[in-house]
Amino acid sequence: MRFYLATRFLFPRHFHLRIFAVCFAAVHLPLLAFLASQAVLGEWEWAVFAPLLLATLAGTLFAIYALGALLAPIRQASSMLRQVQDGKAVSDIPAGGRDLAGELLDSVGLAAIATNTRIGQLRDAAERDPLTGLRNRRGFLDAAAHLRDSTRATLALVDIDHFKRVNDIFGHDEGDLVLQEFAHRVSETMRRSDLVARWGGEEFVILIPGMGPREAHALVSRLRTALHAEPIGPDPEEPVTFSCGLAFLRGPDQIAAAMQRADKALYTAKRGGRDRIELAESGMLDA
Ligand code: GH3
Ligand code: MG
Ligand code: MG
Repeated sequence: MRFYLATRFLFPRHFHLRIFAVCFAAVHLPLLAFLASQAVLGEWEWAVFAPLLLATLAGTLFAIYALGALLAPIRQASSMLRQVQDGKAVSDIPAGGRDLAGELLDSVGLAAIATNTRIGQLRDAAERDPLTGLRNRRGFLDAAAHLRDSTRATLALVDIDHFKRVNDIFGHDEGDLVLQEFAHRVSETMRRSDLVARWGGEEFVILIPGMGPREAHALVSRLRTALHAEPIGPDPEEPVTFSCGLAFLRGPDQIAAAMQRADKALYTAKRGGRDRIELAESGMLDA
């Protein structure tokens, strides 16, 4: 490292030019020796000097180009590390040779893949609910923030009815199974473009982009009908039902406000007897 550090003043931002400068000084010794001998002898042999000078110039140009090209693996490795540092996925990982630069490139490539995988796992752990496999609250809010500005959408807040009874009568494990089965049925009914998440406990949230309250009401009603037709839960006499509050919104900025309105509508659905879907703004069915 000492020589490397000592020569940092030479082309501080261009490593290949620094290597070239060292090579240049080294390979010009014959030319300098020739010039010195000519000076001592008091002669000047153009026939020898001219081709020597031209060959040196040609060699110089070739060396600058070749050294720059030979350092490509190091450039690639450093660009991959920068991508990892910026949190970007490294997709195109070139294969290196079996020399020092190639091994460096391969090692950095493997490290970049491992880091990307780990970041993905950590993000998943932070944004997924381990019980149901759905997004959790944070995952939902992160994904919902990508909703395009002014896109019309409906937000559905869904809460399982009398869920505490399942836990109390059949135990917590049975309650967990109900949550998993319920999450599965919600995901199955919703479209791929809908964002389904576990908001907390036995409460789920669904963002339904491109749909007004009327269409969203019909979509959530399909889930309700499906649960009536094919019930879930440990007690056939008391099949699992849910209550839901719907609120309309335009763009990601309105999500927090829509959440509050959907929560109020959910409360109305509970007070109205449960197993029902309520709209935050009943006059908005045609929005
Ligand atoms: P309501 O119809 O008014 O919503 O009644 P509820 O019983 O569904 O609501 P309440 O808020 O009284 O009870 C929710 C229960 O959900 C209480 C809590 O122990 C249970 N719960 C929350 N998270 C979990 C979980 O991860 N697993 C299980 N098994 N139960 C959970
Ligand atoms: Mg409940
Ligand atoms: Mg609840």
